[in-house]
Amino acid sequence: PEELEDLVALFDVRGTDEPTPDAEREEALASPRFGTVFTDHMARVSWRQEDGWLDRRVEKYGPLQLDPATAVLHYAQEIFEGMKAYKHADGSVWTFRPESNAARFARSAHRLALPALTVDDFIGSIAALVRTDLAWVPDGEDSSLYLRPFMFASEPFLGVRPAAQVEYLCIASPVGPYFAGGVKPVSIWVSQDYHRAGPGGTGDAKCGGNYAASLLPQTEAQQNGCDQVCFLDATTNSYLEELGGMNIFVVMDDGTVHTPELTGSILEGVTRSSILRLVADHGREVVERKIPLEEVVAGLADGSVREIFACGTAAVVTPVGRLAGGTFDHTVADGEPGELTMAVRTELTDIQYGRAQDRHGWMRRL
Ligand code: PMP
Repeated sequence: PEELEDLVALFDVRGTDEPTPDAEREEALASPRFGTVFTDHMARVSWRQEDGWLDRRVEKYGPLQLDPATAVLHYAQEIFEGMKAYKHADGSVWTFRPESNAARFARSAHRLALPALTVDDFIGSIAALVRTDLAWVPDGEDSSLYLRPFMFASEPFLGVRPAAQVEYLCIASPVGPYFAGGVKPVSIWVSQDYHRAGPGGTGDAKCGGNYAASLLPQTEAQQNGCDQVCFLDATTNSYLEELGGMNIFVVMDDGTVHTPELTGSILEGVTRSSILRLVADHGREVVERKIPLEEVVAGLADGSVREIFACGTAAVVTPVGRLAGGTFDHTVADGEPGELTMAVRTELTDIQYGRAQDRHGWMRRL
């Protein structure tokens, strides 16, 4: 669309003089390991308190030089996003609901006292980068170009206050199928000792600090033989919130679909919102509410909980095969991926990869 051309035109493309050789790129694209390989360029916009956002550009991907006193290294004033660019069968490249990521990025910026980047600059930066590095968008089954927009306090200053200098960047990394050998259920450890966020905290912002806080409980989950950690609310330690990097859904034997309501300490996933829509489209009752862990544990024991799945941009929809904690350990139904779980997964990925009609107008062509 013409409008997108205008947004992209604001970015000055300073192409690298050392592009990755074709053979090397093809090799990297053939079996990309998540988050290890990056494209040749990055999009970047700088912010100064006096001048606002300036110097929109696409430049060579490479290390940043930071003063040791750079504020983000001390006080973690940082936010990020995660989204993907998908190649369709006709070779065109698309993103999924980028306005939702842009809006969440602005909300995160507000909570972390960072300057808001406009939706136009957010989408313009992504389009400018993807167009420059188009050859890096994989076309294999379930492959995509993962996009990581982020913003941080770049001012060299040790005082504790919002930084007067900020950098926004977007980098991109080709990713292959999350489940290489077919979709495999994950096991979840419910943490009853740690929380990722509390009331009034930063749980509904996508800031680096939330993820730092989730690492120890995630390690504890693995020590207990589970793949992922699930957090409970910090006030009562009794309601399901979300995983370290995914939202959670519970399907009951009466066909209703439940997910924790947004309490302020849960990240509002774009995948979560989309699934709520798709499930409702099928005439199913979807309920956003406080879900007591106790109810889920009892439901797993008596069979009234039929399916549990987690969802997020990276893995789309992940079946949960087992739920364990200090005092319980249950297989979810027969431990195999649930019917609704797989149907939702297929429906969503079909829209993202252009195999199904985009009836909600979620896809944006880059
Ligand atoms: N919760 C957390 C804590 C996350 O990091 C993510 C990944 N962004 C999600 C949920 C899922 O969000 P989305 O569907 O937008 O990827």
